[in-house]
This record gives sequence, structure tokens and C-alpha cells, in this order.
Amino acid sequence: MSALILVATPIGNLGDISSRALESLRNADVIACEDTRYTLKLLSHFGIQKPLISYHEFNEQEKSHEIVGMIEAGKNVALVSDAGTPAISDPGYRVVRLCRERGLDVISIPGPNAAIAALSASGLPSDQFMFVGFLPPRQSARKEYLATLKSFTGTLIFYEAPHRILATIDDIREVLGDREACICRELTKIHEEYQYGKLSEVKERIREIGEFVVVVGGSRDEENPVQEEWTRERVLKTLGISRNQLYELFFKK
Ligand code: SAM
Repeated sequence: MSALILVATPIGNLGDISSRALESLRNADVIACEDTRYTLKLLSHFGIQKPLISYHEFNEQEKSHEIVGMIEAGKNVALVSDAGTPAISDPGYRVVRLCRERGLDVISIPGPNAAIAALSASGLPSDQFMFVGFLPPRQSARKEYLATLKSFTGTLIFYEAPHRILATIDDIREVLGDREACICRELTKIHEEYQYGKLSEVKERIREIGEFVVVVGGSRDEENPVQEEWTRERVLKTLGISRNQLYELFFKK
């Protein structure tokens, strides 16, 4: 059975590769990768030799058709990105979609992902979250986009480059308020570091080197009247009482 196999690779520590990931890379006929130099290093570390084809954000469209052609011809194509899970702030979506449209098999070999690693270690609520990924690089567009996230009550997860990390923290604070955050740097690597606290506090402790995930607490009720109203209605419905009865029960002396 031929398929497109999405293989998650380490985000820093090579020990995080799974045995299924290695097996899938060993069994693939071809490996499609973002940057052949990165992938060659990874493969040679694990003693794997395979034909590589490049698949990156600038050739995704045409290469997707080539990859689909290979799968239709009976080949197993593994897809990796430079680090982490393909198609998550990385190339992959287009070829996956094309395979789905053609009814071809797509299999996911899950593994490292910076957003989930950061969220799980952040100490911020993880029951509901939004993966935002990279914000627009231009400040005006960034602030405009941030404004659309203002009333979201779940935790927000951003990716950011080291040269923009401080500016982004400032913009998040300006638009969303001085919320709780956890700035996760160099996950799984030697200099792995977490800065937890209010955005204004953590900013002072950031070193602008390495890779970052910014995890920010969601909107609280007082910042979000719509959510507050919704929560109140839900409580009344659950208790099966009216607003007046609630007042009588809890507030009337
Ligand atoms: N596909 C990847 C994943 O599954 O996480 C994400 C690729 S995206 C192009 C790269 C961004 O992910 C970096 O700029 C950084 O924001 C985040 N990232 C990747 N590795 C990281 C690490 N080890 N520590 C912190 N952030 C990381």
C-alpha cells in the first residue's frame, strides 16, 4: 500500500525521534524534505540512506503534484520538515490536501512539536488553546491581528524569531494586556529555559538568542463581557434557576 507518511522529527534533541519515525524513514522509497542539508544530517546520524527530493514553501505547489504522481505510481513517500511536525508552521499542507482530494492514503507519525511541548510545560491552562503560530512581521499588521484574539478565553501559543521576540512581547502586552505568560526558549536543547510570569516581568529576563514559543494566558471574564455573560447563562442553566433566584440565594442578606 503506497502512502504519504508525515514523519515528525526532533526539535533539538535527536533522542526524541520515535522508533516508528525511524522505521517509516527506513521503509520509504523517497523522502521529501524542506532542506536536504538538514535532513541528510539527521539521516546520516541514524545510518539511513534514501533518495531525497526537496519540498519547501517556494516549490510546494509543483512538488505536490510530483509527490502525488509518485504515490499513484505505488511509491511510499515520507515527508519531513527541518524540525518538528510537518505542516505545522512548516510545508506540508498542500501535498496532504492534494492526496486527500485524490483519495490517496496519508499517515501521520506523531512526535515532537514545539507548540505542544511549550504548552504542556507552561503552567497555563491547557484544556482550551489556540495555536497562532507566527504573527505578521509588520507591527501594524501584527497589532491588528492580535486585536482579533482579545476575547479568546483559552491559552494562546505563538512562534517567534529571536530578533522579534521583544517587540512581539511588547505588542502582545499592549493589545491583550499584561497577561500571564511562559516564554519557552530552546526546548529540548542544552540551553532550554522557561520564563514564567506577567509579560512585563518576563520580558526583562529574555535573552534574544535561540528559538522561542510564547504561551500567553487567555482573556479573563472582566476583560471579556461577552464571555462573562455566557458563563453566567451557563451556570443558571446548569443549576436550573433564574437570575432572581440566584440573587436571592447568594446575595440577599
Ligand atoms: N514544525 C515545527 C513544530 O512542529 O514545532 C515548527 C517549525 S517553525 C518553522 C519554527 C519555529 O518553531 C521556531 O521559530 C520557534 O518559534 C519554534 N520552535 C521550533 N523548535 C523550537 C525549540 N526547540 N524551542 C523553542 N521553539 C522552537
